[in-house]
Amino acid sequence: MPCPLTLPCRLPSGPFCALSPRHAPDHTTDCAEQTPLLEPTRAVFAADGPLAESQPGYRPRAGQQEMAEAIADAIDARAALMVDAGTGIGKTFAYLVPALLSRQKVLLSTATRQLQDQLYQRDVPRIKQVLGSDAQVAILKGRANYVCPVHLARNLRDGRFRDPKIPARLRIIERFAALSDTGDRAACTQLSEEDPAWAFATSTRDNCLGQDCPELRRCPLMHARQQAQKADVLVVNHHLFCADLAMKDDAMADFLPRADILIFDEAHQLPDIATEFFGNTFSTRQLLELGRESQKIGNHDAPGLADWPGLYKQLEAVAGRLRLALPSGLLRLGLEELLSADAQDVNEWLVDVLPDVDDALEAHLQTLKPLADSSADLGHLYERTQTLLERLRHWHTAFLRATAKTPDEALILWAQTTDSHAQLRTTPLSVAERFAQAREQHGGAWIFVSATLAVGGSLDHFARLMGMQDAWQLQVESPFNYPDQAALWIPRGLGNPTAPDFPDRVAKQAWPLIRRNRGRAFVLCTTLRAMRQIAEQLRREAGDDIDILMQGEAPRHELMKQFREAEAAVLVGSAGFWEGVDIAGEKLSLVIIDKLPFAPPDDPIYRARSQALQRAGQHPFRELSLPQAMLALKQGAGRLIRTETDHGLLVICDERLRSRSYGAQILASLPPFKRLESFAEALDFLKEEST
Ligand code: SF4
Repeated sequence: MPCPLTLPCRLPSGPFCALSPRHAPDHTTDCAEQTPLLEPTRAVFAADGPLAESQPGYRPRAGQQEMAEAIADAIDARAALMVDAGTGIGKTFAYLVPALLSRQKVLLSTATRQLQDQLYQRDVPRIKQVLGSDAQVAILKGRANYVCPVHLARNLRDGRFRDPKIPARLRIIERFAALSDTGDRAACTQLSEEDPAWAFATSTRDNCLGQDCPELRRCPLMHARQQAQKADVLVVNHHLFCADLAMKDDAMADFLPRADILIFDEAHQLPDIATEFFGNTFSTRQLLELGRESQKIGNHDAPGLADWPGLYKQLEAVAGRLRLALPSGLLRLGLEELLSADAQDVNEWLVDVLPDVDDALEAHLQTLKPLADSSADLGHLYERTQTLLERLRHWHTAFLRATAKTPDEALILWAQTTDSHAQLRTTPLSVAERFAQAREQHGGAWIFVSATLAVGGSLDHFARLMGMQDAWQLQVESPFNYPDQAALWIPRGLGNPTAPDFPDRVAKQAWPLIRRNRGRAFVLCTTLRAMRQIAEQLRREAGDDIDILMQGEAPRHELMKQFREAEAAVLVGSAGFWEGVDIAGEKLSLVIIDKLPFAPPDDPIYRARSQALQRAGQHPFRELSLPQAMLALKQGAGRLIRTETDHGLLVICDERLRSRSYGAQILASLPPFKRLESFAEALDFLKEEST
């Protein structure tokens, strides 16, 4: 087969040529000559290059260079490239250098706002300086991050709040907005980013007035979007990217500008985030918000022209009935659960509640229709009611089709409840087609980077999820010396990990290790129930000697601060702490994982995808459950070793790693930790490490 990407090259391909021409060992030089970005990229990372000049102690790292060169190739070939970049290779610089050298339009997307700020404030300026680049850089976040002058003023004027502290905090936000260049809540030093007052000072997609807004010129969100349109390098997050993609029918041309190079860092999170955004949600909360805002705006803009309190009461009543039609508690209910309620409930729900919600919204719409032209706010409320009605009808139709045994197989129909609210949701069975389509329409180079993309030595699983099986693949090993730096112990005799008292046994096993290590540990749990049980038991053991912090008892950043500052602390967490936590050095030298993180089999999305695989004659455990668990475990284990000088012990309390046939496969996907065989060895390891 000739080299598939560099046309003048006609040499036979080497074993990796289908992935990237430059990795074919027998014609590296010929292909390299065809790629204009390759040499400049190499030069930047060379021992005497600009990075070395600007960074005392710089040492070229083979993995970083290999990754940067592969990205340079992909940019030149306008190809899709997926890179599994082991922790510590310096992946950020590896993609920033070729991207900035290209002088093309770049869209950088990462997983969180904090990582966005880090890229925008620290990494991109640093590489710009090294390269002497004059690229214009901008950052764009979701709308909830920017002060909305309209809603802030409205809530200062006539907001009523259950929490009496909100009005004073809104005044802090008002003062901040008057002085701030960006209106980005992250820049407000007097108020936490998590403060509930922000909800009353920002807009939502449903209530933003868009181009009809009288405050458009003063609007921080619109300003940020204008800057984004002009930028050479734009830093966004996956939520924003997926929201943008979900809103478009055609190419990317909405609030994100067109880019030649799209780079997704922490790319392993993209399929799940896209699943959230590509679906449809109708909720009782949306109904109540619509009612409340209609009352507020109606009383102000059209007093006496409609029974505004009566309209609100009508929406409130149907929202309440809809919530009560579903079981109580924090639940995710798939079609099976929705249809397994007794016949009378289903009948009540279908025949009475949904049509009544429809009628109430239709009445709301008809009331607003003649008033829609009288003010921008009323016009917007009219459109918003229309949208809600469409979402309700979309779900209702899908539900009727499912009950008539003619379901839309591309959609997952489900509902989610909290104590006071209900959401009716549809989610795509797969996001692959949408991404493949976006890439085809948009063109350019698509680069996906993460430390956890590979499963069993291949990136095929991720490529399938993204609908990009033709993407080039590259795996770059971490430079860490894992056998010297870290050890893994799998305790024996803890029994069935699904038994109700299993968390107690985990806590009992963990405590002597935690005591020996003087805290400095994470206990990562697969369920909230196990997390609470383990934290409770550890608190009983620890007394006042070691702080046992638990997820949910304080905001995440506050817990991390307490953990870092404490002399001896343990953090017991669930899903939110398996990734995105970076604590280098001695402060975190013991990670205990309760059991293998398989998705709960009754989760509606997992179950529907699993059934679809079965229908297609595939093996759900092998194709879905196992790869997901391997990637999640790799993320959790990855909290332990963050730098070349870190040391630590990983304990996985799940004997299935030994007893089941898939155990060896999972272990092979982890970094090559030194294996310990007994409790005594584990204790000794901690002793050695702490002396
Ligand atoms: S356009 Fe108007 S309503 Fe929308 S965020 Fe800006 S100020 Fe608020």
